[in-house]
Formats: sequence, structure tokens, C-alpha cells
Amino acid sequence: MEKRFETQVINDKILEKLNLANRYKYLNENLFSILSDDQFTFLKEVQGFCLKFEKENSITHGPDEDIYDWYPSFGDQGYITRQHNFECIDLNYKEYGMAMDFMRILAMDFFDPQFTMGSGATVICINPIYEHHENIPIRLEALEEMVRGKSPGCLLITEPERGSDTVHMLTTCEEQEDGSFILNGEKIFNTNAPKSKWAVAYATAEKNNGNLMAHFLINTNWEGWNCKRVGIPWTPKLYLGKEKLENLKVPKEYVLGGIGKGREHLFEGLVPERISIAVRGVSESWGALAHAIIYANLRKQFDKEILLFQGVGFTLTDLWAKTTALTHGILKFCEIYDTKMEKYGGKLPENISRAMVASGSQYKYNCALLSKKVCYEAANLMGGAGLCDNTLMQDYLNISRIQEIIGGSRQIQNFIMSRNLRNQFKNL
Ligand SMILES: Cc1cc2nc3c(=O)[nH]c(=O)nc-3n(C[C@H](O)[C@H](O)[C@H](O)COP(=O)(O)OP(=O)(O)OC[C@H]3O[C@@H](n4cnc5c(N)ncnc54)[C@H](O)[C@@H]3O)c2cc1C
Repeated sequence: MEKRFETQVINDKILEKLNLANRYKYLNENLFSILSDDQFTFLKEVQGFCLKFEKENSITHGPDEDIYDWYPSFGDQGYITRQHNFECIDLNYKEYGMAMDFMRILAMDFFDPQFTMGSGATVICINPIYEHHENIPIRLEALEEMVRGKSPGCLLITEPERGSDTVHMLTTCEEQEDGSFILNGEKIFNTNAPKSKWAVAYATAEKNNGNLMAHFLINTNWEGWNCKRVGIPWTPKLYLGKEKLENLKVPKEYVLGGIGKGREHLFEGLVPERISIAVRGVSESWGALAHAIIYANLRKQFDKEILLFQGVGFTLTDLWAKTTALTHGILKFCEIYDTKMEKYGGKLPENISRAMVASGSQYKYNCALLSKKVCYEAANLMGGAGLCDNTLMQDYLNISRIQEIIGGSRQIQNFIMSRNLRNQFKNL
């Protein structure tokens, strides 16, 4: 077991049993029967890499490590994202799609939840460039650098005065005669921004007018990009940014979508983003459960393993059953999503797309709640051991409290779902 603490609280025998290899074994025992052969093989491949990487680099997951140092190694293996095969940049991954990316996230989240959350923010910067690169060399270059882990990426939607209300932006873009744009405004809470070479941003030709939004790729070395780190104590290893864009000039070839295209581009990325957050919620739940179940099978009180007390055992079975059910559901959704995307050549018909948006919200809503409940209860069942710094449990506990806000808050998911209920009724 890695050392990530000054004072050991958990005894040697239990701490050793909580190692990454055993946690993976527990996960695999739960998943092998429901995964396809290809999914299970890929899951084990990523797990194998994480185990080797942890051992060879003596990773402790302690407070001094910089998770951004790990990008190139994971990028070399093709483990930053598997949502696409990336034929356009000659990668041609064999295992790709939302279901395969689920396997990648599961394995990586067990290894390190903060690293996995940060790489998820790179993926939401990669996806819009993938959709709109139009074979323009600089866009392909940015795509390749991020997919290969040479640089993290960030997505700039949220503004200090416009959070949930994303379509009434205040950041402006002014088109120039040569087709370039000048951007002015402020963005906030953008994961990875202080560490990223590349950013994808939205702005509008007229403040508060969602119909006039446009969409840009930005090199953060340009003049006019000013970024300060925002501290999020629950994810101390992640770098989030607050940016001031001051007369930032975006050349024409970096314009991913001109005026009037921004809103459509923003919405098309929401389903994969929300599904990835949901998948991370499920992965965090399995990670926390793996710790608590191993612990409860070994920890003795009143001369008995605590798992054998109903208060502990039945709480764990409840969390386990809920996590299993949502895992089955979201895996099925990912498989359907992949099948439909393939069938329709990557562009879903309007009615299917609308239904997928509702499902994306349902899963994001449920999996964020699941993670919040399971990670807290699992830590609680480990008593002091679950709250101290000896294991990754504190990371699970903290990160599980963030899932409900990112990618649209719980109330916003409710809002989207209730609008859907209304639209379905109108069709009766
Ligand atoms: C760790 C972290 C990482 C993030 N990463 C990114 C990123 O990479 N890129 C990016 O662009 N943004 C990112 N965000 C921003 C995130 O998406 C926003 O914080 C979120 O959308 C909420 O916006 P807000 O913070 O302004 O809250 P507000 O919109 O001000 O919401 C405050 C409260 O009001 C509620 N509320 C608002 N409107 C309604 C409504 N109509 N009905 C009911 N309730 C409502 C909300 O649910 C919330 O509870 C990140 C945030 C965090 C904390």
C-alpha cells in the first residue's frame, strides 16, 4: 500500500490489503459477468498500466504530488480519452466509444480520482475541437497535443455573473474584417485553465443574446489571456482558473463556430459531458465501496469483523445494490449511445438527440446523488480510518461533493427533465 500520510492510523495488515491491486480485484469480481469480453479486456489493460505506473513511479497520492506531471505517460498509452478513435490524427484506437471510455474512467478513477476529474475537463475541451476541426492544421495540432497528453485543456463556459444561465453570456466577441475576432470578458471555475496550453471558449456578439454566440479555440500564450488560480479545497490538486480576456485576438482558423453557431455547439457537447460525469460518479462509488468492503471484512470490534454486524453489513449491501443497478443502467446507455452514433454517422436525428439529452440529465442527476451518498456512507462505515489521510477515501469524500455542481447543478438537471416532461405531454 502506498504511503501518503505522516501518521499511520490503519494497521499494517488492513492497509496492505487495501492496495490498488486488491481494489481492482474486487471491482472485476463485480463486473466481469456484465461486461463484454472486449470491455473487460480493455478495463484490465488500463488497470495493468495504472498498477505499473504507480509502482514504478512510487506514487503515493500524497499532497506533494503534481497530477499534471502524469499527463504525458497516460497520453502515450491513449488513456486521456477513448470517446473517439481519433483517426483524424492517425491514432486509430481500436477500443473507443462511450462504453470503452467508461472502462478507462473506472480503472483511472480507482488509481486517482483527482487526476481522473482533471483529465475529464481536458476531454470536454477535446470534444468540440474533434467535432469542428474541419481538417485545419492548427486545430488538429491542438487536438493531438491534448489527446496525447502533451498538455491539459480547459473549457470556458462559466462566467462570474453567469453560471447556470449559460446562454446569457457577458463575454463579447467582435468580428473583424479579416474574419478574426476580438474577445473581452471574464470566465471562472475553468478546470485546468492555469495549466493548459489550449482553451475552448464561448462568447457572444451581443451581451445576453444566446442566438449570437460564437465558439473559439484559444492558445493561452496569446496576449490578452490573463489567468489566476481559483482554490477549490475539495480538489486541492486541481488547478481551476479565473480568466480576464482583454482584447484577445482569435485568428480566423481558430474560430470553431461563427456568430450564431455557439449555442448549438455548446449544447451538442452536453450529453457526453454529463454521461462522463455520471460515469465518474459510479466509479467513485465503486472505489469507495472497495475500500469499505475490504476494511469491514478485516476490522474487528467486539471480537467480530464489523461486516457481521447488521448495522454495517446491511448498510454496505444497500450501497452495493444501488451502485450495481446504476452501473448496469449507465453501461447500457453508453452502449446504446455508441450504437446510435455509429448508425447515424456521428450526427443523431433531432428526436433521438432530445431523448438523449433527457437521459444524460437523468444519469448525471442520479449518479451524482449516488456518489454523494455512497462515498460518505462508505467513509462513515470505516470510522476514523475513513476520515483520516491514510487512503484515497478523503479524495472520494471530497470529490463526491462536487459532482452535483459541475456540468449543470442538480436543480438545473431537474429543470431540464421537467421541461422534457412538458414537451412529452405536448406530443400526446
Ligand atoms: C470544481 C468545479 C469545476 C468546474 N469546472 C468548470 C469548467 O471546466 N468549465 C466551466 O465553464 N465551468 C466549470 N465549473 C462551473 C460550474 O459549471 C458552475 O459552478 C455551475 O454551472 C453553477 O454555476 P454557479 O457556480 O454560477 O452557480 P449559480 O448558477 O449561481 O447557482 C447557484 C444556485 O442556484 C441554483 N439555481 C440557479 N438557477 C436555477 C434555476 N433556474 N432553478 C433552480 N435553481 C437554480 C443552482 O442550482 C445553485 O444551487 C466548475 C465548477 C466547479 C465547482
